[in-house]
Amino acid sequence: MAKIKENSPELMEKIVSLCKRRGFIFPGSEIYGGLANSFDYGPLGVELKNNIKNIWWKRFVHQRDDMVGIDAALIMNPKVWQASGHLENFSDPLVECKKCHHRFRKDLLEKNKCPDCNGELTEAKQFNLMLKTFLGPAEEEANKVYFRPETAQAMFVDFKNVLDTTRKKVPFGIAQIGKAFRNEITPGNFIFRTREFEQMEIEYFIKEEDWKETFEIWRKEMWSWMTDELGLDKKNIHELDVPDGERAHYSKKTIDFEYDYPFGKKELYGLAYRTDFDLKNHYKEPPYEDIENGEKLYPHVIEPTWGVDRSVLAVLCESYIEEQERVVLKLKPSLAPYKVAVFPLLKNKPELVEKATEVYHQLKKNFNIAFDDRGNIGKRYYSQDEIGTPFCITIDFETLENNDVTVRDRDTMKQERIKIKDLQSYLINKIN
Ligand code: ATP
Repeated sequence: MAKIKENSPELMEKIVSLCKRRGFIFPGSEIYGGLANSFDYGPLGVELKNNIKNIWWKRFVHQRDDMVGIDAALIMNPKVWQASGHLENFSDPLVECKKCHHRFRKDLLEKNKCPDCNGELTEAKQFNLMLKTFLGPAEEEANKVYFRPETAQAMFVDFKNVLDTTRKKVPFGIAQIGKAFRNEITPGNFIFRTREFEQMEIEYFIKEEDWKETFEIWRKEMWSWMTDELGLDKKNIHELDVPDGERAHYSKKTIDFEYDYPFGKKELYGLAYRTDFDLKNHYKEPPYEDIENGEKLYPHVIEPTWGVDRSVLAVLCESYIEEQERVVLKLKPSLAPYKVAVFPLLKNKPELVEKATEVYHQLKKNFNIAFDDRGNIGKRYYSQDEIGTPFCITIDFETLENNDVTVRDRDTMKQERIKIKDLQSYLINKIN
């Protein structure tokens, strides 16, 4: 099999097809013809996505003393969005083609013509991205509510409650993972831009004078996350210092981290200095008291934000490799849906199947693992390579005599014999 050109539309097609075929990501509501750019994570996709979220939570919440988490409601009082400025400002410039009537986000177009038919475009008007619905039985204006377009606001609205219950002192952060909704004008590029997506966000509260230094610390943290935890290559990541006039309404400085997706260089994550904009909008009185001098103040905020789905997509793009006759997802073992697959050499030898089942159940207590007894061993290896399983274990006739197994490494394809009693520690060592 020829090695496919990096960053090509062909690569994207292959990734989408692998995701569907192996149960990472399906088109949403598919049996009803789908629903514009909605996707469902399948049995392997949910594992990959959960691994990313769990590693994030462990790293940024559990392993730090200056961070606590929350999990807030998706639908908040509409006054939140009034105060935050989202009802007024959270919009994108919408243009429509006068000929084919397709609609586009103007700031994403390369030229001022319709990309579909080259027709003339209307003047841009601001389109609010907040997704609306009604709470309660009456569909009237008074019951109109919004699905949150970012998880961030809950950290500001709950700030006082968190403070009162945790006795945290500035600098400290509040973290949250959850869904956000945006009525995007032009969703697309698979899970890159959807109307329902997931975010991992931190609002890090500081004193105003510390913002530059803190911004720098989080910039480095985000780099380390991308390279050390997700395994993305530095050369595929680029920083964009968002210029005046293009930043979100609340931001005084923003850096976008862009990734070289097969469809181009696009935003992966963002890092923003939100000043005291949000806390000032939500609290009439300063919500924080400095214990050293009793001064009441509005802490300032550095916000690192990570899209979960864009993380999944970047990880898939980075790890998809075709070499000789196999397709491999070279995922970091910590991210792989299955850490191990166990095979009996032959399906029709009960003593091998029995031993393999025993090893399988033993390892399953600690790892998410697969069992496969179909076809020949070579095919089973390739099947696991394609979904990124880092280790395959084969139980053969020697196992029955010596109590050892063959462990085959996904990346090197090398095999070694390991005693069953040492398997657990061998794998823990390799996976972490
Ligand atoms: P874009 O410029 O691509 O519309 P944004 O700058 O509006 O993105 P932010 O408001 O900074 O995005 O949102 C934080 C993060 O949430 C983004 O960096 C991205 O990872 C993710 N995200 C935003 N919009 C979407 C979407 N429609 N689909 C999937 N992920 C998204």
